[in-house]
Amino acid sequence: MGYVHIKKEKCIGCEQCVVVCPFEALFMVKGKVEVEPEKCRECRKCLPVCPTEALYLERRERRGPPPEHGISDIVVELPPELGRYKGVWVLVEQEDGKPHSVSWELIGEGMKIAQKLDVELSAIVLGEGVEHIVEEAFHYGAEKVYAIDDPMLNNYRTYPYTFAMRKLVNKYKPEILLMGATSLGRDLAGAVATSLKTGLTADCTKLDIDTGARVLLQTRPAFGGNIMATIICANHRPQMATVRPRVMAKPYKDDSKTGKVITEKLALEEEKVKTKFIEFIADEIAEVVNLEDAEYIVAGGRGVGCKDGFGVLRELAEALGGEVGASRGAVESGWVTYEHQVGQTGKTVRPKVYFACGISGAIQHLVGMQNSDVIVAINTDETAPIFNVATYGIIGDLYKVVPEIIKQIKNHKTQAMKEGE
Ligand SMILES: Cc1cc2nc3c(=O)[nH]c(=O)nc-3n(C[C@H](O)[C@H](O)[C@H](O)COP(=O)(O)OP(=O)(O)OC[C@H]3O[C@@H](n4cnc5c(N)ncnc54)[C@H](O)[C@@H]3O)c2cc1C
Repeated sequence: MGYVHIKKEKCIGCEQCVVVCPFEALFMVKGKVEVEPEKCRECRKCLPVCPTEALYLERRERRGPPPEHGISDIVVELPPELGRYKGVWVLVEQEDGKPHSVSWELIGEGMKIAQKLDVELSAIVLGEGVEHIVEEAFHYGAEKVYAIDDPMLNNYRTYPYTFAMRKLVNKYKPEILLMGATSLGRDLAGAVATSLKTGLTADCTKLDIDTGARVLLQTRPAFGGNIMATIICANHRPQMATVRPRVMAKPYKDDSKTGKVITEKLALEEEKVKTKFIEFIADEIAEVVNLEDAEYIVAGGRGVGCKDGFGVLRELAEALGGEVGASRGAVESGWVTYEHQVGQTGKTVRPKVYFACGISGAIQHLVGMQNSDVIVAINTDETAPIFNVATYGIIGDLYKVVPEIIKQIKNHKTQAMKEGE
């Protein structure tokens, strides 16, 4: 941005520039031209008329913060067919008839959004023999359930599930569609969004709604986790987002709640599906390390210093009945496997207590654990950012602090056993 400047010593006060300025940015003061920078639009009409070349254009620093853009600046009015999309939907993911807990977390979050928009919160249940999941969806707060029960949906395959989702969305037209950022959800959400020609924000850590524009505000880490970006899908419907497990809180379960079920037929021939299910082979390590459901996590970082150092953390985790977690620093050092990694490119966790031992607290680590109920940080550096999110901060060497905590827990257990005798 720039505006016209005046070399006062050259100005002869002929006023020709004042006359040609269409924005009244130039005016006379004591026989010399002055400029009002805010009015100048850099049209340059004044420059050629000055006989003494007293005027010139120069860049100026923008004053104050850049102008803020509201959602209404970006959102164009939806075409009538998209304006008809109403309601918030959550996919209830299941495997072998067992629902994934992220679905209930999303029902809780979807409920808040639906209430703000004054619309219904619905769940989608796909599978074979899934009536019990339909009931459970009501217990967690869904007001309506759209269900397709079909043998072809027994084991997850992208095409039949995409086909089922597309069928429901095209018929009942929800404005918002939420899924878990699990292996299944990540695969399915991309396929569904592509087939519906709408937008998808993956791995959100926060959701909100602009009620005026009915636009979902989808926040997730961006640019390597250095900023949190809020992304919108302004002009397409439904607005789709995936959210990682353990980011949102699970709502209260009320077993007396019920609602309306709408059942649809899949009506898809097996011959049309190119992929066939043969066998499910579980990832053994992923099965063994269950960070997402752990109530206690003892995580170590580069401050642990060596592979053997994780022994003391494992001992504390065992004393608490919990799991061992790690920062990427520790994983990259080769001291623990990736399955233990917490953070942006690892797992998102929400335990009752999270011990961060020798972890500095980089933003990419924090996004994976900052929703823990209680965070205990142990670090020798009192300025480490991990202390900003810690409930309890212990400035000290983890090799002195952790054994002391283990000792206290063991003493406490022995005491409790004696009192119980
Ligand atoms: C795209 C991207 C994705 C990423 N994803 C992740 C992710 O998912 N998870 C993740 O963790 N990181 C991730 N990172 C890396 C992240 O930026 C940090 O580099 C990493 O978390 C640092 O690990 P750290 O805290 O263990 O190590 P450091 O930052 O080196 O911290 C070590 C800490 O240990 C303390 N310490 C040293 N000795 C002791 C002792 N004896 N007792 C107590 N404290 C001690 C030090 O004071 C220091 O604070 C990602 C980075 C990028 C760019």
